[in-house]
Amino acid sequence: MASFKIRKAVDPHVIMLDVVGSERISPNVVRVTLGGAGLDRFTPIGFDQWFRLFLPREGQDTLKLPTATSGLWYAQYLTTAKPKRPWVRNYTVRAFRDDPRELDVDFVVHLEEDGSCGPAASFALNAKAGDQVGLLDQGIGYNPRHEHDWTLIVADETGLPAVAGICESLPEDAKGVAIVELPSIEDKQDFRVPAGIELEWVPRNGHGGVPGGLALSRLRETAPREGSVYAYLVGESALVTGGRRHLVEEQRVPKNHVDFIGYWRHGRAAGN
Ligand SMILES: Cc1cc2nc3c(=O)[nH]c(=O)nc-3n(C[C@H](O)[C@H](O)[C@H](O)COP(=O)(O)OP(=O)(O)OC[C@H]3O[C@@H](n4cnc5c(N)ncnc54)[C@H](O)[C@@H]3O)c2cc1C
Repeated sequence: MASFKIRKAVDPHVIMLDVVGSERISPNVVRVTLGGAGLDRFTPIGFDQWFRLFLPREGQDTLKLPTATSGLWYAQYLTTAKPKRPWVRNYTVRAFRDDPRELDVDFVVHLEEDGSCGPAASFALNAKAGDQVGLLDQGIGYNPRHEHDWTLIVADETGLPAVAGICESLPEDAKGVAIVELPSIEDKQDFRVPAGIELEWVPRNGHGGVPGGLALSRLRETAPREGSVYAYLVGESALVTGGRRHLVEEQRVPKNHVDFIGYWRHGRAAGN
């Protein structure tokens, strides 16, 4: 019997990092590379390791970061007067390098019709070397807790870093299906995928509607493989809740074989 571990962050302290570079790597994604001495306290653990990202609000020249560890940071954050609080958004480690220690973050640069966007997308679009951010490691979301024959991963573009990290961390003999919706096929990326994982890109290519809708339709058309599944769904809220409902109600997958994380909600800014 294999043992399944919850992979929590190794050192859940907020660390201060510097932007060392940024690049538009595809039509809808800006990759920001972070470095600095703070990374000495960061332990990469693969898969979809994610973190809270603290960003300065307009007019803040110093970043006031929580010093409390783990879940206690939020209580401390709330006691900070609102104008002094940084923005907080959630992101995924896209890549980590050791020499020099650098961490890449891929930001989807979603724009409203009037050209405006949220603080994280705006940070990515304007990031320049020397900008400072805070990072609080949150560990891994992908967490099968039972023996399974195959893996099913479904994501929209915000989950592409998670899909890449999971595929790069899975064993060579892993089997399964990964469905990833993208704004454009030009946003697809190359990464190591185990031979037994079928990776399917679902580009919107100008097709309207809320991101995630096409991935959900694709999931509904996907016939289950043989044996027991571990399903992991990340992305826009309607995609992950609809996907879980489909798997549990239509395909009779046990609830505890499906994990899902709503990464964002259409029409609503993230909490802080
Ligand atoms: C565990 C986790 C890991 C994540 N990893 C990544 C990652 O690696 N890369 C990544 O790009 N995102 C990732 N996300 C999603 C990201 O946190 C959200 O998209 C976040 O809301 C972006 O913040 P913002 O300040 O740009 O926009 P917000 O201020 O939160 O929102 C402003 C407006 O933009 C809309 N909006 C937000 N995100 C999108 C989007 N992607 N497309 C279209 N409209 C949007 C909102 O509905 C709202 O109307 C992750 C989320 C979680 C929970």
